[in-house]
Amino acid sequence: MSVASSPEPSVAADPRFSPPGYFDALATRVLDGSPITRAEALSILQASDLDVPAILAAGYRIRHHYFGNSVQLYFLMNAKSGLCPEDCHYCSQSKISEAPVPKYNILKRDELLDAARVASERGAKTYCLVISARGPNEREMNAVETIVPEIKQKYGLDICACLGLLTDEQAKRLKACGVDRVNHNLNSSESHYEKICTTHTYADRVQTLRNVRDAGMEMCSGGIIGMGESKADIVSMAFDLAELGVQSIPVNILNAIDGTPLEGTDAMSPQDALKALAMFRFVNPSRELRIAGGRELHLRMLQPMGLYVANSVFVGDYLTTKGQAPQADYDMINDLGFEVTGSCEEFSLDSPSVSR
Ligand code: SF4
Repeated sequence: MSVASSPEPSVAADPRFSPPGYFDALATRVLDGSPITRAEALSILQASDLDVPAILAAGYRIRHHYFGNSVQLYFLMNAKSGLCPEDCHYCSQSKISEAPVPKYNILKRDELLDAARVASERGAKTYCLVISARGPNEREMNAVETIVPEIKQKYGLDICACLGLLTDEQAKRLKACGVDRVNHNLNSSESHYEKICTTHTYADRVQTLRNVRDAGMEMCSGGIIGMGESKADIVSMAFDLAELGVQSIPVNILNAIDGTPLEGTDAMSPQDALKALAMFRFVNPSRELRIAGGRELHLRMLQPMGLYVANSVFVGDYLTTKGQAPQADYDMINDLGFEVTGSCEEFSLDSPSVSR
């Protein structure tokens, strides 16, 4: 048969694909300043795995618009481990967890300073000071108020404090001692919250974020996906974060630790985790989006793809679980052709380098 008479290859459209250009059109709308709807956000989560490349490509346009190819690194310091009276079902440090985690009270000044040195050496811009607690007691507040000015003066790191629930007065004290940002995750949707914690409420968490915002600090708040919630729950959380105006959104993928009530929870697939990360980018286009705990465990070989929509990762270990070696993160960022940035402020909305 001659080449000229060859029939045109005809491939029937696979119905599992979304209509061509669907996600790209959503990204264009977002970049034009029109938020996507909850139904559209849900459609990202409900898309088939075949759509993942198109979702990421569209999400990357948004990510690139606001953050270029920059990657912001965060360094976590578990300044007080275990001994928490709360019952968050995902947490290995709660009173009801039987997981064998280290238990210690807030670390001494030298240990906190030494960790800041390591954070600085690893290229992190932000030092996340975390304690396991319902909220900080007076001793813990005093320790934070003492160490924060020292770390900032010595290493020039931004400080994000994660101390649990905060009163408005505590938030003001943290602002006064130099804390730049407070992390307090919503963790899940309002309707799913009572299934993952009974010792405090979703409303308590929202109030702490409002106290942080009113004190003049930035809000870092995200959640954990893969805790048995529905796709609509994940959408709901993403919209609540947008409405609160949080500046930084860490998205954890549940690492179901043995000994916690969520032990044995089905793992989220890498494709579903990527769709969720992308959905957070579409709903919160200009906000820092961090792939947090569970990155290595659930994204596995697809970790680099997550950075097409997220613009930040933790470097080093998580609170009670291991992360990959810092060099592996630097190599990943390098291989993507992305670069570690010194500061997210360089990529603020007002920056001419990231014009709308
Ligand atoms: S308040 Fe924090 S440390 Fe305590 S159980 Fe909940 S997540 Fe864990």
